[in-house]
Amino acid sequence: SATLYVVATPIGNVTDISLRALHVLSLVDAVACEDTRNTAQLMNRFGISKPLLAAHMHNEREAAQMLIARLQAGERIALVSDAGTPAVSDPGARIVDAVRKAGLNVVPLPGASAAVTAISASGLVNDEFHFVGFLPAKAKQRESVLQSLAAAKPILVFYEAPHRILECAAALKEAFGPERQVVFARELTKLFEEIHRCPLADAEAWLRADAHREKGEYVVLVDGAPAADEEGDAEAERVLGILLAELP
Ligand code: SAM
Repeated sequence: SATLYVVATPIGNVTDISLRALHVLSLVDAVACEDTRNTAQLMNRFGISKPLLAAHMHNEREAAQMLIARLQAGERIALVSDAGTPAVSDPGARIVDAVRKAGLNVVPLPGASAAVTAISASGLVNDEFHFVGFLPAKAKQRESVLQSLAAAKPILVFYEAPHRILECAAALKEAFGPERQVVFARELTKLFEEIHRCPLADAEAWLRADAHREKGEYVVLVDGAPAADEEGDAEAERVLGILLAELP
């Protein structure tokens, strides 16, 4: 019956598509997608052919109305973005909101998301994370966002475009200090996947060490601020060290 399926798609390795996603893509009446060419390619890979409807950032409101009309006529529709999970730094949220408000059925199909994929292999030991997504492109606005996060305890999760990765690393060091741990998760699930962890002090050197590193897609993780008592402990130890050195 009339349902909007929110379907996650691969973030690089096409075989990360789920069996359920393939099943749903084969049974729906149409697929609403961010970029019809991109989605046509994915569907071709699996021999699935469906009417494709454009639902991108610039037409999300109108797309929502069009999809609601089709759902009200009893259609089943899949919603996908170019890569990963729709509505996460991608179009989809407004459509889902409108469809739910119209009292229609929404069913999510979980799958790849770059953020969670990066966290899982980062080795950062922290029970919490804070998804920031893309930082503002303008330096002033970026600084103020980063400043507001400087004392946060969760892992901070950023998405970054390759042409801004060096600038991003410099801004992170400025905001969080040279000792804070950063993880660059680059080209996840693809041929040149790299996951590199270092203090922010060493980030620029790592990025510059290989020309490929200014290309490709990045998730950047910054570990949370050390707990106040850890900082206190470190400070106490430092003072104790000085005192002990002075003792006869
Ligand atoms: N909806 C997607 C998700 O669930 O992860 C995110 C889409 S957002 C427009 C694209 C950004 O996600 C890229 O700029 C990059 O920061 C990150 N990303 C997507 N695929 C990636 C990959 N294979 N490796 C690293 N980062 C990736």
